[in-house]
Amino acid sequence: MSDNRIPEDLPDHIQHYIDGAFVDSQDGDTFDVLDPVTNENYTTAAAGKKADIDLAVAAAKRAFDEGPWPKMLPRERSRVLHRIADIVESRDERLAELESFDSGLPITQALGQARRAAENFRFFADLIVAQADDTFKVPGRQINYVNRKPIGVAGLITPWNTPFMLESWKLGPALATGNTVVLKPAEFTPLSASLWAGIFEEAGLPQGVFNLVNGLGEDAGDALVKHPDVPLISFTGESRTGQIIFAGAAPYLKGLSMELGGKSPAVVFADADLDAAVNATIFGVFSLNGERCTAGSRILVEQSIYDEFVEKYAAQAKRVKVGLPSDPTTEVGALVHPEHYEKVMSYVEIGKTEGRLVAGGGRPEGFETGNYVAPTVFADVMPDARIFQEEIFGPVVAITPFSSDEEALALANNTKYGLAAYIWTNDLKRAHNFAGNVEAGMVWLNSNNVRDLRTPFGGVKASGLGHEGGYRSIDFYTDQQAVHINLGEVHNPVFGKQ
Ligand code: NAD
Repeated sequence: MSDNRIPEDLPDHIQHYIDGAFVDSQDGDTFDVLDPVTNENYTTAAAGKKADIDLAVAAAKRAFDEGPWPKMLPRERSRVLHRIADIVESRDERLAELESFDSGLPITQALGQARRAAENFRFFADLIVAQADDTFKVPGRQINYVNRKPIGVAGLITPWNTPFMLESWKLGPALATGNTVVLKPAEFTPLSASLWAGIFEEAGLPQGVFNLVNGLGEDAGDALVKHPDVPLISFTGESRTGQIIFAGAAPYLKGLSMELGGKSPAVVFADADLDAAVNATIFGVFSLNGERCTAGSRILVEQSIYDEFVEKYAAQAKRVKVGLPSDPTTEVGALVHPEHYEKVMSYVEIGKTEGRLVAGGGRPEGFETGNYVAPTVFADVMPDARIFQEEIFGPVVAITPFSSDEEALALANNTKYGLAAYIWTNDLKRAHNFAGNVEAGMVWLNSNNVRDLRTPFGGVKASGLGHEGGYRSIDFYTDQQAVHINLGEVHNPVFGKQ
């Protein structure tokens, strides 16, 4: 294994960033950060607790109450956001290198994610100035308009899959709308989050607007959720964690946005372009190491093409290249952390008792150490199987046959999740009818995860609460105060004259 995969200038310790300064935890506690290829500690990170969250929230609140950021004109904030996008773009390769090293993502895919992070900032920089004010003229009588106001300190809690990009998804709109933030990134992947501080400083974001506290979910995350001065929480992570956060935030009636887990169906009808469907469904579950919320991890295939599909799919899955995350030819890298690796491997073993293993099924050959899982395919999986129902979040897929449109729809909807659905058919009516009836926040027809940033992103059922993306993000991060102005007579009946 070559050592040129280890990036230069890795930090020997990762700190919090509070009120414009890098600091350690109040109690000096740290946690280990692992290299997913060797599972050795390559650095430590400050382990934040309530005391650190209190300091970060106080700084963010001060910056909100007394600082310039919320009062700046949208076009002034927009300029800062564009500078952030410029900096991210100019450092995309370094960002990708660090992200790939820390998370195990293949380097080419990490590069795409770094560029998407820049796009997110640029998108919200433009949207905030293009956003037309809502003004409604009531003929002859009234003008109504809406004041959009930043809310205050936004608590942002993010997962370890594509961490930098997913952080940009929340940071972009939260900052564009004039809020100040406290970010609590995932403990498995703290490296890329620490880079935001330098980028924001360089772009001219005022002190205290961005704060970062590392730490475990049950410590730092929980303290952020329960802090009375944090009126809104945007969370991305597991559905179970979403439930805990929902309960923790309930006494404060906080604004909540939840992007949660998935077990998304990819439905392949007999009239589909078979090769395109195989290629897309391979990519849909094995890209990003299968650590993708919208992974099409259940493939439902019409009976008449089932055997051919399974054969082609298994043959192609076996050719997917597993390798070092730093190798540009790698298609599946190392899973993020040994704990997650054990979880995924336990599902591989469960799958062997629930389905017919047609590809993978363990460690790939030649990878004795590190969190490597061979792309694994189970066919003939019944809907009550755990590998059909539960999110595995790794390179593991379940294939199930169906015989009618009704059965396909029933199977597609037969999980607690409802994040995404992919439909492969050349029958226009069938495609749109299926899209209308499938329980999923997002549907792709003969397409794979291509999303314009203006469209809403989010799930139904156990996959989420609310949508972010485009104007929905602007709505989430602002209070919308309606102002009603009378231009004529007062029209209410006069009480108290009799
Ligand atoms: P996770 O729920 O374990 O952790 C996510 C974040 O929540 C981390 O920062 C963690 O420290 C924090 N956290 C954990 N317990 C907490 C608590 N009690 N209070 C406050 N914060 C707490 O999720 P993960 O394993 O990091 O990420 C993978 C999950 O995220 C998968 O289920 C995946 O589907 C989901 N995901 C969803 C989307 C989406 O947009 N729907 C996108 C990416 C990932």
